[in-house]
Amino acid sequence: MPIFEYQCRECKKTFETLVFGNQEVTCPMCKGKNVKKLMSAFSHSSDGKFTSSAGPGCGSCSATSCGPS
Ligand SMILES: [Zn+2]
Repeated sequence: MPIFEYQCRECKKTFETLVFGNQEVTCPMCKGKNVKKLMSAFSHSSDGKFTSSAGPGCGSCSATSCGPS
């Protein structure tokens, strides 16, 4: 998936977003469009960052009943 990391020039927020084609990127904090693309966002920040919003479950399997109980 074409996930890229950006930083807003207005509020300095960094965020990752999916970008399709020529879609405009908008800052999720201030809704500004004055953002810059950050390079190579993946190699140093892969520690479960993308699974934190997956809800219950361990994140490494599709079951929802394997989380801590
Ligand atoms: Zn912003």
